[in-house]
Amino acid sequence: MSTQTVTTDSTSTGPAFVPGPVLLLGAPGVGKGTQAQILMAHFGIPQISTGDLLRSHRSRRTELGVLADELMQQGKLVPDELVNQMVAARLAEADAVRGYILDGFPRTLGQAAWLDSHLDSRSAAALPVVAVSITVPYEVLLRRITGRRSCPVCKSIYNVFTHPSKAAGLCDVEGAALEQRADDIEEVFAKRMRTFDELTAPVIGHYRAQGRFEEVDGDRAVETVTADIEAALKRLRGRV
Ligand code: AMP
Repeated sequence: MSTQTVTTDSTSTGPAFVPGPVLLLGAPGVGKGTQAQILMAHFGIPQISTGDLLRSHRSRRTELGVLADELMQQGKLVPDELVNQMVAARLAEADAVRGYILDGFPRTLGQAAWLDSHLDSRSAAALPVVAVSITVPYEVLLRRITGRRSCPVCKSIYNVFTHPSKAAGLCDVEGAALEQRADDIEEVFAKRMRTFDELTAPVIGHYRAQGRFEEVDGDRAVETVTADIEAALKRLRGRV
């Protein structure tokens, strides 16, 4: 646990902290994507979102994308083996060497077991993963998810209830028409929450039992949550 990844920060004279491989866990809408994007910018390591990777397959109409499309629309999970293969390919890319923020994976105990053994098979010098779970009450999640809109061009995220764009339906940066994900409607949200309770909540228990795990209250301002996650990551890497 004493191993630290330290790199030189070009904006200051001191060493900058890089957290290595990180799992961001939590129910749909807790803010994993928002936080992962901020952490990516702070630490210079990529956000790897299995939801984004699957949506990219879907828009390219790959075999995986066509299969995933129907399951995603129903709020169901894509089979472990397919998602694991997709993650293995992404983790092998050069930008993931110093670490990454995995967002939305693992989502089942099968995926967690696969990831544990996949990472164990790498070089002994590689840092172990640490996991941070973000928690938010159900009612808050419902508003967050059903109000969520995003810009198809710059990926900025808005919420019609809590963080509306200046002009209704248009991105503040790009002026592009904002989009709502098909699986962000209330009915599909309820199904995704059931899937989370049945299949993903045990994954959180798995990492909690392993140590290298912290929980953060996500029902606060974005920057407060980010500060808590960063403090948790420093504790988890033994560098308070
Ligand atoms: P997300 O953007 O993370 O909310 O994911 C959107 C949808 O993609 C989910 O409801 C699932 O249908 C699918 N998906 C994303 N990540 C996974 C995963 N790790 N395992 C299986 N299905 C996933």
